[in-house]
Amino acid sequence: MGLETPEISLYFHIPFCRHKCPYCHFFVLPNKQDLHNLFLQSLFLEWQQKLPLLYGKTIVSIYFGGGTPSLLEEKSVHMILEWILQSSSHIAKDCEITFEMNPEDGSLPYLKQIKKLGINRISIGVQSLDDSLLEVLDRRHGAEKALHAIDNVFTAGIDNISIDLMYDLPHQTFTAWQNTLHKIQKLPISHLSLYNLTIEPHTLFFKKQKQLTPHLPTQEISLQMLEYACTYLESIDLKRYEISAFAKNKRYSKHNTGYWTGRSFLGYGPSSFSFWEKKRFRNIANLSKYHDLLKSGESPVDFEEKLSYPNDLNELLAVNLRLIEGVNLEEFQEKWGRLSSLTMKVLQSLQDKKWVEFENKNVKLSKTGLLFYDSVAEEII
Ligand code: SF4
Repeated sequence: MGLETPEISLYFHIPFCRHKCPYCHFFVLPNKQDLHNLFLQSLFLEWQQKLPLLYGKTIVSIYFGGGTPSLLEEKSVHMILEWILQSSSHIAKDCEITFEMNPEDGSLPYLKQIKKLGINRISIGVQSLDDSLLEVLDRRHGAEKALHAIDNVFTAGIDNISIDLMYDLPHQTFTAWQNTLHKIQKLPISHLSLYNLTIEPHTLFFKKQKQLTPHLPTQEISLQMLEYACTYLESIDLKRYEISAFAKNKRYSKHNTGYWTGRSFLGYGPSSFSFWEKKRFRNIANLSKYHDLLKSGESPVDFEEKLSYPNDLNELLAVNLRLIEGVNLEEFQEKWGRLSSLTMKVLQSLQDKKWVEFENKNVKLSKTGLLFYDSVAEEII
């Protein structure tokens, strides 16, 4: 039973943002130079602390997420990539190195620089191509800026481009959603991630929920938006390969595919998650505490969980089912161990409900199951 694969991923949480978006529940900090300095010093300490874990591993993907990685100076990106290059781990030849970027940071010189450093995939937080909705989201860019940023990434020579789009937004009509989708047809993107707005605690939208709720699309419209998006995206060759991810020519996100298939990954930076030897852990979401812990040689982890059998396998299976192609149960069990008879019964009952479909050794979400993934996952877990 292979508990750990030699292939791993690295995630760097770059917590800086120009301002906090009203729907955002991530750990972010103001974009101040002294905080950048403290962050980078601490990050290096964490890098050194985890270095022994990298021995004998192959890094297949590196992801700079946030926050806003594009607020890092080129020299800082260079420095982090140098740490990785100088570590004892092997870097896969086709290692995917993704950098999240906000449209307002998409200047051509910056993009050319980071491409030179080895960044080969950019993920842009477009969210919408409707100016009035971007205002509702209090984003710092308009539709034109987003289109220009995508163009610049492509001109800089990075052709693996992903964009994020959001639906279910306050004041968003079905027509507005269609318009945004139609605008992406001609863009040189290879990947798209689709998110519906969820109003999370500790956000400004949560505080304003009462005012916002009457302006949210109804459940019926929301479903129409999702269905339209899936059909339309397929028609422009963006094939749905995961519940919320679409790709052209199978240019799937290697990094995220790792999350869905149980690849081990190490997260660096305050609030980042790791999954290692079937244990999940999270760094403290506080920069000065993160720094103090590392400075005194302690672990910055403030939460960890190792599920026991069969819950560990059930969770892996539920996450893996997010992939549209489904899960080959034979291969899954070879890799992770036997699923319990109770789990097999649950899968059977999900098939009876027509939420999952079996084909030989493969199980996958049905069309209805795709709409009710959360309930499918809940039953399995
Ligand atoms: S830019 Fe992204 S990470 Fe930063 S506050 Fe907005 S949504 Fe959150």
